[in-house]
Amino acid sequence: MLFADLKLHPSLLSAIKELGYTRPTPIQVDAIPPALEGRDLLACAATGSGKTAAFMLPILQRLMPLSRGKTRALVLAPTRELAAQILEDLQSLAVHSPVNGASVFGGVGMGPQEHAFRSGVDVIIATPGRLLDHFKQPYAKLDALEVLVLDEADRMLDMGFLPDIRRILRQIPSKRQTLFFSATMPPPIAVLAREMLKSPATINLERQSRPAAGITQAIYPVAQELKSALLVELLNRGDMKEVLVFTRTKHRTNRLAEYLVKQGIAAERIHGNRSQTQRTAALAGFKAGKFRVLVATDIAARGIDVEDLGHVVNFDVPQVPADYIHRIGRTGRAEAVGDAFTFVSREEEGDLNAIEKVLGKRLPRVTVPDFDYHARVEAKLEVPLAERIAAIRAKKASDRSRGQAKRGAAAPAGRGAVARPGGRPSGPSRSGSGGGRRGPGGGSGGQGGSAR
Ligand code: AMP
Repeated sequence: MLFADLKLHPSLLSAIKELGYTRPTPIQVDAIPPALEGRDLLACAATGSGKTAAFMLPILQRLMPLSRGKTRALVLAPTRELAAQILEDLQSLAVHSPVNGASVFGGVGMGPQEHAFRSGVDVIIATPGRLLDHFKQPYAKLDALEVLVLDEADRMLDMGFLPDIRRILRQIPSKRQTLFFSATMPPPIAVLAREMLKSPATINLERQSRPAAGITQAIYPVAQELKSALLVELLNRGDMKEVLVFTRTKHRTNRLAEYLVKQGIAAERIHGNRSQTQRTAALAGFKAGKFRVLVATDIAARGIDVEDLGHVVNFDVPQVPADYIHRIGRTGRAEAVGDAFTFVSREEEGDLNAIEKVLGKRLPRVTVPDFDYHARVEAKLEVPLAERIAAIRAKKASDRSRGQAKRGAAAPAGRGAVARPGGRPSGPSRSGSGGGRRGPGGGSGGQGGSAR
């Protein structure tokens, strides 16, 4: 099947050609014809399947006879990165078409987004929370909406967005076309789909939860404390050019990125505590090849789309099998070839078994020759919070006693001065220790923040 067989508008076909897509992917073959007919869709499609173009092309075609000044399509996405990525895809697919779009998500100013509503941009791509913020204002009316897309619905569920989705549904026209995409169909998502869709064309349900065919998956059994060293070893061996690394927590993301930088590897990080500007800069730097490694928590990494990304490393085993499929969907996109390596410590073997059960196969185990699997580790990647606070307190206590000892040594000269009323001979150092004396609660709280 060729794109030309899909009865797409010539301006879309030119854009597709310029993007270098030679053939439609399976989800595009299945989704585009019913969507073009105006039917609702229920599609099981993972990231990397080409799902964005599968819903965006029919939307663009539908909006082509423009009626300016009205928002006619709304795409809901779980994260800012995914929303930004979808907008980028829209812009490249619509490069020869008059259709325009805007993204609406948190972490950036409301002003330009308000303008998008007021001017009635053709397509709005939004995260649920920020969209609801706008809905409180009189300018944010989507009365002319014709198409709604729910992208990565299962991720919306994971992130607790289902009530927000229902709130949004109450504020948009019920007569519309709905395109529903989810990598997996847990029961609450199946219920939501039933509520939202009218006799949908269902796609790819039997092929759900399978990683793209080009991905080579391998398991690297390794002790928890040696994971950072193993990653550096793989990078130094030159097996991986650039790599997206997933960790379990924001803290581990920070620590791992710091560790890699110390080892002379250009690395950046992306997670929910970073500002939108920081996330955008990290992602742009990674895409441009400025950073060889991007470390991310997987929620923040939704929507990350990097062309030719050869490697994904699961530094920690995902606790939910669907997350594994999502994560490794970043490589081997649209039938390219990529590698997905997963580091597994003994404590994580249970989670790995669950993933293998879903995949229906055992993944190959790999040991790296010459890597010292029994090395002693100087510093743990993740120091438990209680230990970190204890270390900070101990340092403060030792600073304090050193300060007191110093003052003690200086006392003979100063004693006379202290005896005088109001005399404060050692002002600066006293105020320093006074701060310390505020008590362990205040001291460790402040330091705890900066020590992360
Ligand atoms: P997604 O929409 O997140 O599944 O992304 C799929 C990736 O594959 C994106 O980088 C697209 O640019 C790319 N892509 C989409 N459709 C095709 C196609 N028909 N041929 C080749 N690449 C495609």
